[in-house]
Amino acid sequence: MPIETDVVIIGAGPAGLFQVFELGLLDIHAHVVDSLPRIGGQCGELYPEKPIYDIPAYPVIGAQELIDRLMEQIAPFKAQFHLGQAVTGLERKDNGRFALVTSAGTKFDTATVIIAAGLGAFQPRQLRAPGAADFNGKDIHYRITRPEDLAGKDIIILGGGDSALELSGKVNSLTLIHRRVEYRAQPASVKKMKALAGKGELQEFHGMVREVLSEDGEFRGLSVADAEGLVHKVEADAVYVFWGLSPNLGPLADWGLDIDKRQIRVDTEKFETSEPGIFAVGDINTYPGKKKLILSGFHEAALAAFGVQKHIDPDKRVFLQYTTTSPIMHKRLGLEKDK
Ligand SMILES: Cc1cc2nc3c(=O)[nH]c(=O)nc-3n(C[C@H](O)[C@H](O)[C@H](O)COP(=O)(O)OP(=O)(O)OC[C@H]3O[C@@H](n4cnc5c(N)ncnc54)[C@H](O)[C@@H]3O)c2cc1C
Repeated sequence: MPIETDVVIIGAGPAGLFQVFELGLLDIHAHVVDSLPRIGGQCGELYPEKPIYDIPAYPVIGAQELIDRLMEQIAPFKAQFHLGQAVTGLERKDNGRFALVTSAGTKFDTATVIIAAGLGAFQPRQLRAPGAADFNGKDIHYRITRPEDLAGKDIIILGGGDSALELSGKVNSLTLIHRRVEYRAQPASVKKMKALAGKGELQEFHGMVREVLSEDGEFRGLSVADAEGLVHKVEADAVYVFWGLSPNLGPLADWGLDIDKRQIRVDTEKFETSEPGIFAVGDINTYPGKKKLILSGFHEAALAAFGVQKHIDPDKRVFLQYTTTSPIMHKRLGLEKDK
């Protein structure tokens, strides 16, 4: 039997999480599906250790800490999470509701859908050099989770200069392999990275990975060709690959929505897509002036919640209530019982 609900949110990044909160304030319970096994979207997956400086009222907050805080904030609304499963199918039923299905076979019968799918079901760009498949997830990684575990190790970083900074001083040796001489990281980060290279705390190498080296089934490092085609052996205990994301809209592209350059077009009143009852918030949507910032996703989630409310119950008059003073809000937030 499908799970019957008022709303399914696709994506547990910051926009999807805050969406739970805004719906909760309107007394709408949400199910949240994410293809990743973890909550947090890009913040949790790509840069959990990095500080963010443009979240209102937090002069600085770590990306993972932001996700933890959001989880704390939405706890009263008891959203149900379905992780490690991508939404693969979405169809409108004859009665106007939606049939939604995930890669794990979970089925929903839902009145509305909110797509908070960021860049799509994203995957870090993989190292595909010969031999890589044997070590993916073992010695070849795509995110830094516990830098303290790398103490004493020889580490190669492919791509991101920013990430090299994060590990400097915490490992035995750090080699940054970058395809081009120019970097696309923030100029301040590049400057710091060059300073580390100048002090010998980081080896900088420009070239292309040719092969993953191993001996008796053990990872040993990489062979790398320089601009002249000379092949060098770089020994290491592990390699971290930061070649960015390979965004994959996947099935979202086939749902008949109005899509512009891989973004879903929405109105700016309710953040509804071209399909009534399907909303899109956060990085996945586009409208004139759109900026892909966490802040924008939060604003969009607030207005989309009112849009969902209207779709579910068009005749109900909904008044804006302040969380500071409204007893109804306090009750929904679990602060006051039965008022
Ligand atoms: C290195 C870096 C630094 C950044 N710094 C800042 C900053 O300082 N300030 C700022 O405001 N922004 C910053 N950003 C951007 C910010 O992270 C994004 O704007 C934000 O994460 C978007 O949130 P979201 O919830 O829309 O999408 P995401 O965080 O991308 O989350 C979307 C989720 O949807 C899931 N999903 C996608 N498709 C499916 C599907 N079919 N089924 C199930 N699940 C699906 C994905 O797995 C993902 O978990 C930064 C981004 C990066 C990469």
